[in-house]
Amino acid sequence: MSAPQRITVLGATGSIGLSTLDVIARHPERYQVFALSGFSRLAELQALCLLHRPDYAVVPDTSAAHELQSSLRGAGLATEVLVGEEGLCAVAAAAEVDCVMAAIVGAAGLKPTLAAVRAGKKVLLANKEALVMSGALFMQAVRESGATLLPIDSEHNAIFQCLPGDYARGLQPVGVRRILLTASGGPFRETPLAELERVTPEQACAHPNWSMGRKISVDSASMMNKGLELIEACWLFDARPEQVEVVIHRQSVIHSLVDYVDGSVLAQLGNPDMRTPIAHALAWPERIDSGVAPLDLFAVGRLDFERPDAQRFPCLRLAREAAQAGGSAPAMLNALNEVAVEAFLQRRIRFSDIARMIEAVLNAQSVQAVEALDAVFEVDRRARALAAEWLARR
Ligand code: NDP
Ligand code: MG
Repeated sequence: MSAPQRITVLGATGSIGLSTLDVIARHPERYQVFALSGFSRLAELQALCLLHRPDYAVVPDTSAAHELQSSLRGAGLATEVLVGEEGLCAVAAAAEVDCVMAAIVGAAGLKPTLAAVRAGKKVLLANKEALVMSGALFMQAVRESGATLLPIDSEHNAIFQCLPGDYARGLQPVGVRRILLTASGGPFRETPLAELERVTPEQACAHPNWSMGRKISVDSASMMNKGLELIEACWLFDARPEQVEVVIHRQSVIHSLVDYVDGSVLAQLGNPDMRTPIAHALAWPERIDSGVAPLDLFAVGRLDFERPDAQRFPCLRLAREAAQAGGSAPAMLNALNEVAVEAFLQRRIRFSDIARMIEAVLNAQSVQAVEALDAVFEVDRRARALAAEWLARR
């Protein structure tokens, strides 16, 4: 038996982080936690450290670091506490690390995720915003470093599983006609359109099939999540936006499909539980138990499909347009969306203002080429400033 793989979990206190630690804890002979990071839920991070005894923990500032460091020392742990983005990049790229789960939400995850990629790690990518922001540069870094990039997003993990095995070894998939990205339609799939002006953050976060962090829950309600996933799919699978079709499938049992030129359509099915794609990517190319119950097709009964309603889900169109425009457009879309979702969660804007704001600001900007990471961060900063102006004007 080989030595356990050492794993860094970026965003350990979040929904994906906790599911990852759940799978890891089922296989102590295979996996060992090297580092954990948290941001605001620091009591939870402390509890996770006591349970998983990592070599390192990362927190956002020095006062939090002192507090966590002294409580872990008091408990007899040798865990060293690091600080901020520098700490995150260090635990992502450390020589001892075999595998990094990138599960920080939003643009904040880009630098640490890229640090893991550049260090040639096995990178389990949940942080879709990182890829949306910097797709070309990110994929180039993967090729240059020889990192192994495995998708955690359930749709992309499903697509990965439906592509030929050689795909992961860098060979382009042949014979793929379309990628069919399934979407549940979220909590507002049938809400009367007029009521979308009045829905609350609590309603938006109450997803019918998945339990997730607040930002991605709002993205699922607006279907910006599917828009970001469309862009993510184009980068991961070298597809054109026109090759990616979104299908509403409310049971969330089929996690996505690949349509081949000979008429074969391959799908991956399973219960909606992120521990399946996490376990798949952790063990790939082997298979391990994830703790997820077997799929009971008799209980599922039926599988339904429908076309997304363009009027109800304008964010999907905005993301598709950004994918087609390329350059700075996806990074701009992502940053505007992050600001809009935060403002909605703080009850500063209405749900329908999310798409309204993104469209108004995007349409007023021209698309620029982004050839370096600095340019990506510059687009991100500019988008956040423009979004703040839009919010202040209302
Ligand atoms: P959560 O909000 O539950 O967790 C986010 C994690 O990131 C937490 O550990 C949080 O720390 C940390 N974090 C937040 N802001 C910062 C910051 N500025 N700097 C450093 N760390 C930060 O989100 P999810 O787990 O739901 O999602 C994580 C990522 O995975 C997202 O990109 C999402 O799109 C993607 N994803 C999630 C799925 C899901 O089922 N949840 C499915 C597919 C993709 P703390 O909690 O301590 O504040
Ligand atoms: Mg998804």
